[in-house]
Amino acid sequence: MLTCDGTLYRERVVSLDGGKQDILLYHCVGETRCLRRKDIIDTLYAALPPTTVKFSCELESIELDPLTTKPILRFIDGNTISTKVLTICPYQINVVVIGSDGGKSIVAKFLNLKPTKMFPIFAVRGLTNYPHGHPFGREFTRFKKDGMLVGRLPIDNNMIYWFSAQPYIPKDERIWKNPEVIRRYTMELLSNYPQEIQEMAKNADMNSLSFTHLRYRDPWDLLTGTFFKGTVVVVGDAMHVMGPFLGQGGSAALEDAVVLARNMAQLGLNHAESGSEVIVHRVGKAFDQLVRQRRIRVVRLSLQAYLIGTLLVSSSRLKRILWIMLLFLLFPNQNGHMDYDCGDL
Ligand SMILES: Cc1cc2nc3c(=O)[nH]c(=O)nc-3n(C[C@H](O)[C@H](O)[C@H](O)COP(=O)(O)OP(=O)(O)OC[C@H]3O[C@@H](n4cnc5c(N)ncnc54)[C@H](O)[C@@H]3O)c2cc1C
Repeated sequence: MLTCDGTLYRERVVSLDGGKQDILLYHCVGETRCLRRKDIIDTLYAALPPTTVKFSCELESIELDPLTTKPILRFIDGNTISTKVLTICPYQINVVVIGSDGGKSIVAKFLNLKPTKMFPIFAVRGLTNYPHGHPFGREFTRFKKDGMLVGRLPIDNNMIYWFSAQPYIPKDERIWKNPEVIRRYTMELLSNYPQEIQEMAKNADMNSLSFTHLRYRDPWDLLTGTFFKGTVVVVGDAMHVMGPFLGQGGSAALEDAVVLARNMAQLGLNHAESGSEVIVHRVGKAFDQLVRQRRIRVVRLSLQAYLIGTLLVSSSRLKRILWIMLLFLLFPNQNGHMDYDCGDL
């Protein structure tokens, strides 16, 4: 059980440009929750039988065994897995590779998916704890200033998640890995922001700080891509990494998991013995169904996120007008993506 459901009720957009504050207020549409990734992973992990998950196994490559045509997984530590149990974090199922290894997926490479691309936007993310409680209520607040965006979302009464997104390329490459450098860099970027924002960054939990160059898969590649081969498939960001402008990438990964698990169970694969050709055929069928059921959903999410991201980084007025028109034409209800049910497990 999660300790807090992280539900947010209100959104506030504060524009700080020109030394004044313009404020827009909305009620959250649909269900908006801010959850710690660790809470989701712990909850999923607790639901699995003991010893199901093996940690710290970094995949280096996948190739097909020339004799059996089964996948062989090679790990960074020199280990290989060539039959029966093939594991990629976080799922483990006999004879099957479910690649949920994120935006730089090795499994996607094996499936010959086109390389992902980058938005010219960098994001810093962090968690800040307020031991005596924070004063921000259940509100998602976005601050805009000088082409930068800072977001703040409470997780519970003490903990908040925040991000800053900026179109600058930092010169210091250590920033990718070193939390102290990330904090210093962020403090500099936020030096013109209100005191409460600067303190939020200053008091961030060092272990939570991350620095990311935003990555996406072209929506038209999602329309045509082949996301499985035999008993190897990709889900989550490995399949459809997208800019975080709708805040739907993680939710879409969870939807993939629900749909895949349901399809596999319906085909009797939840208690299947490994190895038999019948099972391999059924696994292929479950993957085929997954891709069919998910394709339009992830194309739409990715396209909407792509258009918003492209709009954010366009400097030409004409192009901005074009992107806005396209967005309204294709997505007249900007929050329509929330009105979606992937069905029960
Ligand atoms: C700035 C930012 C803000 C975001 N905001 C939101 C939001 O508000 N809401 C939302 O729903 N989503 C959001 N997202 C997107 C969300 O984080 C991702 O969509 C989600 O994490 C995808 O989950 P995943 O499990 O597919 O991939 P990941 O979370 O990337 O997990 C991949 C896992 O695979 C492991 N791995 C990677 N390579 C290997 C390998 N070679 N061998 C073994 N293991 C490997 C990694 O260590 C990791 O544990 C945001 C993303 C960014 C960058």
